[in-house]
Amino acid sequence: MSENRVMRINRPNIWSRTRRQLLHQCPRAWILKYGFKRANRTFNRNLQRISDWSSPYRMMQRAVRSIVIQRLEAHKHGIAWIEQDLASKIRNMILGKRFRQNRTLELIEKRIGKSSQLKFRIPNSEINRLIEIACLRYHSIIKNPIISKILNDEILQWHSFSRLDYTKLNGNILHISPDIIWKNGTNWNLMRFSVQGSGKQISIENMAMLHWAVTKRGLPSNPKRFTIHELNWSRGKWNWKTKKGDERLERDSINLIKMDLKAMEDLHRKLGPASDLSQIPLARNEKFCKTCGHRDTCPGGEDLTRANLEQSALEMFKSSNLRN
Ligand code: SF4
Repeated sequence: MSENRVMRINRPNIWSRTRRQLLHQCPRAWILKYGFKRANRTFNRNLQRISDWSSPYRMMQRAVRSIVIQRLEAHKHGIAWIEQDLASKIRNMILGKRFRQNRTLELIEKRIGKSSQLKFRIPNSEINRLIEIACLRYHSIIKNPIISKILNDEILQWHSFSRLDYTKLNGNILHISPDIIWKNGTNWNLMRFSVQGSGKQISIENMAMLHWAVTKRGLPSNPKRFTIHELNWSRGKWNWKTKKGDERLERDSINLIKMDLKAMEDLHRKLGPASDLSQIPLARNEKFCKTCGHRDTCPGGEDLTRANLEQSALEMFKSSNLRN
């Protein structure tokens, strides 16, 4: 089965931080994950499953995020939370994902007719190590002053939001909601947490929460009435960054999103009606190929340097043919 069989493609009008990261890490992986319409449901479901491939470490990171959200939701709805079950909850999340991925692996191997490069056994000791890391991160975030005030009912006016919550901008769908918001006097705080992060400043992508907030019914429409908070796990601890909102920050973040949407449109155009993947740039770094579900069928998955050279040679040949 070839990706080129899918002729209909999606207009790229959805923006989220995850999509942005993938777009910048590997345009081809982004196209394969988000570029195709549901013209052939089985094909696209399979493409989606392959695109969703994650490393065990990434599975652990997702488990941490989900368990923190579950903890907050349990508190909100008065559901009993048994702290001793934490490790088994995380284990089930990782093994559940691993089990589903094994089915994806069978699909890939059927497709390529040989053993996949993605096939490897995760020893129990590695699973235990990941669970230990996840528990450490969970216990550490629970001590954050805001999270602990929420869990101790010292902050009463707070809400959590799904990352699927969206707002619209010129017909585009933006997934830019915060994870939690809370009120402080007449002002509001918007917090996002991320299981991996870097940098000393709040990322410009997270500033886009301001746009979500000012367009959300029931919240103030003045960006100055909000404070942005970012909690990122980096160098063995949760780093907490805050910044007062204003119009300029909101505008800058929206401009960044518009630039990304434009880059997505350009890429989409490059793919063309024949869904020609040979024109789409490959990963910036081979480390992305190591955990990419497409590595068995993508030239970059075999040898990224050679694949990039071949692609530029092909582009040069095409452009010289166009000039002649
Ligand atoms: S194998 Fe590498 S180049 Fe190919 S789609 Fe995956 S990340 Fe991109």
